[in-house]
Amino acid sequence: MSPTIELTIRLAAFTGVFLAMAVWELLAPRRRWAVGRTPRWPSNLGMVVVDALVVRLLIPTAAVGVALIASDRGFGLFHLLGWPGWLAGLLGFVVLDLVIYAQHVVFHHVPWLWRLHRMHHADLDIDVTTGLRFHPVEILLSMLIKIAIVALFGVPAAAVIAFEVVLNATSMFNHSNAAMPPGLDRLVRLFVVTPDMHRVHHSAVKAETDSNFGFNVPWWDWLFGTYRAEPAAGHDGVTIGLPIFRDRRELRLDRLLTQPFREPAEDETTASAVQSSPP
Ligand SMILES: [Zn+2]
Ligand SMILES: [Zn+2]
Repeated sequence: MSPTIELTIRLAAFTGVFLAMAVWELLAPRRRWAVGRTPRWPSNLGMVVVDALVVRLLIPTAAVGVALIASDRGFGLFHLLGWPGWLAGLLGFVVLDLVIYAQHVVFHHVPWLWRLHRMHHADLDIDVTTGLRFHPVEILLSMLIKIAIVALFGVPAAAVIAFEVVLNATSMFNHSNAAMPPGLDRLVRLFVVTPDMHRVHHSAVKAETDSNFGFNVPWWDWLFGTYRAEPAAGHDGVTIGLPIFRDRRELRLDRLLTQPFREPAEDETTASAVQSSPP
């Protein structure tokens, strides 16, 4: 597959899902805003541009390129075993999803990685654009991890593209402020992480931040005991964000980029206020 077709598929899926979720949020919002769209959307969407530029400039081949090279030269576990493409694709997809789950857990527990990832959590509301708001260094590390897995397992290129497209789509879906009937949420949550499930992960209460790490399927959280059905304060009462970086200036694009390298000393009072507030 040519890079142009790959880019077209990814852009079309991104635009389609983004618009669908933005309209859904507009017609049926789940929660009232804390700060709303205006102070957040320019910087959250600006981060998408920064991330795309950084990855394209620094890793021109990306994961799909490595998948094609692995297939050409026959390296990677699935190629060595000679397994059929559909099986290698399916297993490759599942392996990538498990690795992204594990990576997310590690980024929460290793202090210097948490500094990179906490920018994603510092958003004061959670909506479709939060699902795109990741620090470029985190995006780069994540891409390198994906490349290593693709090379190690020989994941087929089609599965890599499918995984990237699905991950991007589910991230926009499960970060959205879209309301779903409770019955539908329970059903969908068996297979895909829903907005109500991932919102728990964006609670300012640390035990809740350290739960529901999955992006695509909820199964890893069930399996590894990190699943939490809902926030203690309920979806309307939960404080979104982190106890640190609660100043609205921290929503600016330049502040987002420098957050991993700064100490949020002046915000510590707010920190204890949020942490000690009753559920
Ligand atoms: Zn996280
Ligand atoms: Zn998130």
